[in-house]
Amino acid sequence: MVGVDAAAAAALLSAPYADRSQLTSSLESVSTDDLRNALEACSVPSRSPLAVFSNWARTFECRPQRVFAPTTALQCRQIVELARRDGATVHPVGVGHSPSDLGCTNGWLVRMEGVQGTLDISHTDRTATFQSGTTLHAVHAALAAAQPPLALRNIGSISDQTIGGLISTATHGSGVTYPVISADVRSLVLVLPLPGAPVVCVSREADYPLFAASQCGLGATGLILAVEITVEDAYRLEEVKDVYDVDEVINNLDEISASAQHVRAWWYPSGGGMVVARANRTYIPAKPQSSLFGHILGYHVTQFLLCVSRFWRNFTPYVGKWAWWLAGRHSVTVDDGYKVLNFDCLFPQYTSEWALDSAAAADCLRALRDYIAEEAANPKGQRVHFPVEIRWSAPDDIPLSPSYGRRTCWIGVVTYRPYGLPVPYRVFQTRFAQICAAHGGRPHWAKEHWLAPKDVEEIYERFPEFRAVIQRVDPQGVLRSEYVRRHILGEDLPLRMFKRRP
Ligand SMILES: Cc1cc2nc3c(=O)[nH]c(=O)nc-3n(C[C@H](O)[C@H](O)[C@H](O)COP(=O)(O)OP(=O)(O)OC[C@H]3O[C@@H](n4cnc5c(N)ncnc54)[C@H](O)[C@@H]3O)c2cc1C
Repeated sequence: MVGVDAAAAAALLSAPYADRSQLTSSLESVSTDDLRNALEACSVPSRSPLAVFSNWARTFECRPQRVFAPTTALQCRQIVELARRDGATVHPVGVGHSPSDLGCTNGWLVRMEGVQGTLDISHTDRTATFQSGTTLHAVHAALAAAQPPLALRNIGSISDQTIGGLISTATHGSGVTYPVISADVRSLVLVLPLPGAPVVCVSREADYPLFAASQCGLGATGLILAVEITVEDAYRLEEVKDVYDVDEVINNLDEISASAQHVRAWWYPSGGGMVVARANRTYIPAKPQSSLFGHILGYHVTQFLLCVSRFWRNFTPYVGKWAWWLAGRHSVTVDDGYKVLNFDCLFPQYTSEWALDSAAAADCLRALRDYIAEEAANPKGQRVHFPVEIRWSAPDDIPLSPSYGRRTCWIGVVTYRPYGLPVPYRVFQTRFAQICAAHGGRPHWAKEHWLAPKDVEEIYERFPEFRAVIQRVDPQGVLRSEYVRRHILGEDLPLRMFKRRP
């Protein structure tokens, strides 16, 4: 049985829902016609641009059967209940920043960004609770405005994502003692696709299996309404960037990864070196680094040069040298933690990222270095973009987290799409993924990969537990997106079924 705790959920959500019946009333007795009528208000018309879903990189796209844009918990419940009665599937999305087709569906799509706002901030418990469609930008602003100010412990390269989307893919930042952000979640409020669309509040203490599965649930364990997450006092970071020879970093990976609270390395293959950024908490005054001139060179000129390299591929290494010339230098930045931890990801991109056991990371990077060098020496070889990003996270106990049970080194590659235009990437990124897989890597769930359930089972010992949870809370398969059916349930659905071709 599901550990339904509607009272706890109502307590968490009491701020925006003074009318607690939004959460606690059973919808079982509401007629289907009444549900349909109630949902007219948040149903997206088919002629609206929102009726088509495309991910941020505009690499995958779908036109779902129906699209909803709810703003209340009650509407979320009504959508799930109506879908269950109609035999439809429901797929929640945040802002579509997942680079794969994870956000796509041909069924019903629920755009969760309207379900947003701060619900609670507790200095005593060191937690904050947000509705799931709240973006990280809004989370940072709300925590910074608290008295005294607070902050998330760690974040990834961007703050555009919704907190619900971020949790559902075990998004990570960097730091050998900092786990993926989902590990900081204390409790979650979920709508389940069971009769009456019950609302539950899950945590380590209440229905732990469902809580743990939902810490990286891929949208399949329930519609997340709210996320309670650990926070700490607001902090500044002093980040020092230095330039290293590639082999020097690879040969001293463990030592470098532990040399600061948040360590990141960016490898510029055509530039021949790596930038290592080490960030630690500090109380010294802010010293931000940004200039309009730097932005023009780093963004606009680079995009133009990348566009030229689409027509003249052997020009690509020169763009890499240009990027290295811009980035490859010593610098010191002091600023609010979240500003330092975010990174300018530049343009829409094809991307692949794998989580390696940190003990296997150096060998994996050596194999990648050799492959890239071979390609560079071959006039017809692959021409790679920059940077290869190397980050770390602490082990966790989340069943589907790529950092499950091991100190992890994340290795990610990008191939930019200047002005949103297509660029060949599959040969290079497939080989990259094969190298990572051969070294025991696990792919980032939000990024493209080919894993079938038998592969997932080999690398995730708690995979059967995850499948048992989704079977228990969703026996009718209401929340089974095409991605989940392909990678978790093993249905033979093409990898490129939602691929967008410009
Ligand atoms: C430029 C860029 C930089 C990135 N940097 C990093 C990084 O540094 N580290 C990292 O790990 N990842 C990174 N990512 C990946 C990103 O963090 C994840 O893809 C994240 O899930 C995106 O959040 P979203 O709100 O866009 O969710 P979406 O992409 O819209 O959805 C992602 C998943 O969450 C589920 N979901 C969304 N909302 C809900 C909800 N309310 N209830 C239940 N399920 C829900 C969806 O069903 C889907 O399975 C980056 C992506 C981009 C494009």
